[in-house]
Amino acid sequence: MIELTGVPVSPGIAIGKAFLFLEDEDVSIPNYYIRTADVDSEWDRFRTAIGKARGEITELRDRARSEMGPTHSAIFDAHLLMLEDPELMEGLESSLRESLRNIEWIVFQREQELIEQLSRVQDPYIQDRVADIRDVTKRILNHLMFRERFTLSDLEDEIVLVAHNLLPSDIIAMNKRAVKALVLDGGGKTSHAAILARAFEIPAVLGVAGATRNVRNGDGVIVDGRKGRVVVEPDESTLIRYEQVRSRDVEREKALLATEVLPVRTKDGRSILVKANIEIPEEVDTVRRHGADGVGLFRSEFLFLQPGRIPSEEEQYRAYRSVLKSMEGRPVTIRTLDLGGDKALPELSGREEKNPLLGWRAIRLCLSRDDLFLTQLRAILKASVEGDARIMFPMISVPEELDQALALLERAKAECRAAGYAFREDIPVGIMIEVPSAALVADILAKKSAFFSIGTNDLIQYTLAVDRGNEKVAYLHQPFHPAVLRLIKATIEAGRAAGISVGMCGEMASDPYAALVLLGLGLDEFSMSSVSIPEIKRLLRGADSGEAASLAREVLAMESAAEIERYLRERIDPEAGVFR
Ligand code: PEP
Ligand code: MG
Repeated sequence: MIELTGVPVSPGIAIGKAFLFLEDEDVSIPNYYIRTADVDSEWDRFRTAIGKARGEITELRDRARSEMGPTHSAIFDAHLLMLEDPELMEGLESSLRESLRNIEWIVFQREQELIEQLSRVQDPYIQDRVADIRDVTKRILNHLMFRERFTLSDLEDEIVLVAHNLLPSDIIAMNKRAVKALVLDGGGKTSHAAILARAFEIPAVLGVAGATRNVRNGDGVIVDGRKGRVVVEPDESTLIRYEQVRSRDVEREKALLATEVLPVRTKDGRSILVKANIEIPEEVDTVRRHGADGVGLFRSEFLFLQPGRIPSEEEQYRAYRSVLKSMEGRPVTIRTLDLGGDKALPELSGREEKNPLLGWRAIRLCLSRDDLFLTQLRAILKASVEGDARIMFPMISVPEELDQALALLERAKAECRAAGYAFREDIPVGIMIEVPSAALVADILAKKSAFFSIGTNDLIQYTLAVDRGNEKVAYLHQPFHPAVLRLIKATIEAGRAAGISVGMCGEMASDPYAALVLLGLGLDEFSMSSVSIPEIKRLLRGADSGEAASLAREVLAMESAAEIERYLRERIDPEAGVFR
């Protein structure tokens, strides 16, 4: 038995037999000289292969569009564009004519050059583009070499899929009923695989170093998508333990979902909202099924992280409108673009930054690219008549940023008015508190904000100077550090004094131990991945806010995260939802 760990990207426990899906990189590509007289027929052979590839990709695109909507089908639009890229085609043709080598070899060489260039860039977005290039090339080579390509749609038995990395088309095509869990060597939270696994509710652990080396086809595997663990060939007692946890989870989930529609009132009658964080509009079904009181964070930048292009105003409008309509009047907070940092978009960021997390990110990027920002604001405003839309600005660090963002919002409103579009004039506008400077001047920011949402993922990162994506220093990403708790307390108090609501949309809100402390500090709203909602709702329903307030006072008097965590684990029983 061995245990591997990785990034938990989609929760749930799955137990099954491993199916190793290895890219057939070792298939040799023929390499031979051709006669000058054969160059034209060689090129024709290539054009025929391109035609077939185009037909297949178009089919995949249409399928993705009908199953999951335009956000995902855009991946295949980008693949089609690649097939039609005149520069690429001219380059291939001139290499063919100059080198007089067979076309398979020319295509393969060009792929290797492109991958080599892109692999030097340490950026998850670029790595996804590498996957796109491999995907398209493989398809063309398969046609040139008359190879039948195995696709994951051929899967019949239930399996745990283990691969180095999955191409977007592999995931779209795969038989989702057969895939009980996903384990990949590569990938992280923002990769296509992670987004799609969550959208399909398939437990997944990504970034598992050595998964394909340590797992053999047919091995028994346990995947714990909540904790990021993969157990290979588990012994009897581990298997029994996970089976028990899984059936408990299933039972608990059923019981929790049965109470899904009930709003949260604590034992002493305080109303608390528990909302969902989403990345793509297609997640809304899951959001509703888990009983969310609204969408507390729509990470709109994910609309931009699809390959190929920046979505137009119309496309954005349609995405916001569809979420608002599906939420049927429940509030939907659309966070304006949080690009940059670990979500870089090369089309926008251009030159690489030395310290992207401290650099041209989120509201900073939007304020200097007001064309982009105004387009998004108009799209949100136009969609605002379809439901209860709210706007939220990310990463405010100085009050002037809020002033400038509000001024641009007024300009977007004026533009909508001039164009005759209906929109909600009094659309609430709030900000994320995710930089310590903002927490410390929350009283000033509260005067111009309709609400606050505390983004602890970044707040912890910037308070403890710890890159949230770097596993070497992950031990410092401490939600219970007294400094973090004090900043949260200061933010909630400033919000209360100004009479505005204060929520939290960072991961900390879904931690049962933290949730009771946050309740005690006076938090009004919790927002998290849909799958965590039922459990947190149940916990809050069983809590008394007076008791939670004394718990918060106790932990705020403590001196370290370790001491606080130890104490909370002694005092709280997350299963029972009450203090011991
Ligand atoms: C956060 O920083 O806590 C947050 C919710 O935003 P994101 O995780 O998208 O940076
Ligand atoms: Mg953030």
